[in-house]
Amino acid sequence: MNRKKMIAYLGGVLCLLCFLLLIPGMLFLAGSSVNTSSSQVNSPEPAEEATVKKVAYLTFDDGPSVLTEEYLKILEKEKVKATFFLIGEQIEGEMVEIVRKEAEQGHEIGLHTYCHQANKIYASGESYCEDLEKTKRCLSQKLNIVPKLFRFPWGSANAYVRSYKQEIIEKMKEEGLEYADWNVSGEDSVGYPSVSSILSNIRKDYTKYNDPVLLLHDSATCRPTLEALPCIIQELKEKGYSFQTLSKREKPCHFGE
Ligand SMILES: [Zn+2]
Repeated sequence: MNRKKMIAYLGGVLCLLCFLLLIPGMLFLAGSSVNTSSSQVNSPEPAEEATVKKVAYLTFDDGPSVLTEEYLKILEKEKVKATFFLIGEQIEGEMVEIVRKEAEQGHEIGLHTYCHQANKIYASGESYCEDLEKTKRCLSQKLNIVPKLFRFPWGSANAYVRSYKQEIIEKMKEEGLEYADWNVSGEDSVGYPSVSSILSNIRKDYTKYNDPVLLLHDSATCRPTLEALPCIIQELKEKGYSFQTLSKREKPCHFGE
């Protein structure tokens, strides 16, 4: 074998060696790329969690009354916080202690009215504010409670208040008070409510909202509401709602907003 042939022969062997080494390398790379892509295919996507938070706000108007303590027992047993919109003239005698208990148990106290008589409180914007101020003073003097919310008797869209509603809202805002309506009503203070009528009125609307504000009453005539309450709470819990006091709602509850 002359020198040229020897060089050609060695070159051929070298090429063959390189080729043999390249094949497994390529296979390895191909395999790893397959593995990578297959691992991407197989790796689970980040779970899409249900991020929607559902919070219900139970509100009770027209208390305190002889039934209020029984409401408190149910709320305590169910570990649920609520908001009570009070009638000032009813905060007398042993009712003062009931309101104290509401506050001590972590419920929110809101202003409703002092006398709840449409002809008196809605005689003018001024008379409305006087009535509400009286309730505010009553709570402050007897219980050292300063509410953040008030609720118009019959709601902010009632026919009596229309002409001076805005005036009242502005004035109360200056005093750090926001008004609160509702978007679900048990209709438990009109006609002859029963446990089943209250439940069906609530079921009609609460599922439309992630932040329902339920209007109920804890006045002395509202035993059906008291009897319906454990069922209302249970059902809302089963549907994934937690409960909170109303001023903690992200935005105030106003009709038409
Ligand atoms: Zn009322």
